[in-house]
Amino acid sequence: MNLILMGLPGAGKGTQAEKIVEKYDIPHISTGDMFRLAIKEGTALGKEAKSYMDKGELVPDEVTIGIVRERLSKPDCQKGFLLDGFPRTIAQAEALENLLTDMEESLDYVLHIDVPKEQLIERLTGRRICPTCGATYHVVFNPPKEDGKCDHDGSELIQREDDQPDTVRKRLEVNVEQSQPLLDFYQEKGYLVSFEGDKDINEVFQDIDQKLGELAE
Ligand SMILES: [Zn+2]
Repeated sequence: MNLILMGLPGAGKGTQAEKIVEKYDIPHISTGDMFRLAIKEGTALGKEAKSYMDKGELVPDEVTIGIVRERLSKPDCQKGFLLDGFPRTIAQAEALENLLTDMEESLDYVLHIDVPKEQLIERLTGRRICPTCGATYHVVFNPPKEDGKCDHDGSELIQREDDQPDTVRKRLEVNVEQSQPLLDFYQEKGYLVSFEGDKDINEVFQDIDQKLGELAE
């Protein structure tokens, strides 16, 4: 089962990835993990990637694709994979297609968790953090017992810079700009399946599970 997971920040990708991985026994492969592993293993490509990252430069696609190939060739990918954070561009998506064809594989689905932007803003700006113990809360979904105070130590909760409305809006806009061409690309190819992500976590997973179940049949 060869899958790509897409969704904006706050859409609940991480939670759904955990559930998919657990049920279908395929690895969750995020771009960051993939690079870290290649660097840790000291492969030629890992070293090359690191040389760019150390200079603060973007890793070129040919290196990234090579690292993807190494990762997808590992034994834990025998039943498939769940890619997360890759591809990011059409060029990478095309390179991935070639790579899979080369490996005599193909994509099954691009799972897109679709949550209205306004709701993402509500989710992302509601986060509050305790500066003392690091506990996280959410004003709507996981509020502290006493408004604005940590349950553990009574500290005044703070909102991180990253969670301020303006920052969140900008981050989402950048992400929409990046991901929309990819969504269109996969839509055209017939791989894209969108799920309404503004439901309960378990309901979203049920929908995904139902779709993936078709593959297992
Ligand atoms: Zn605290």
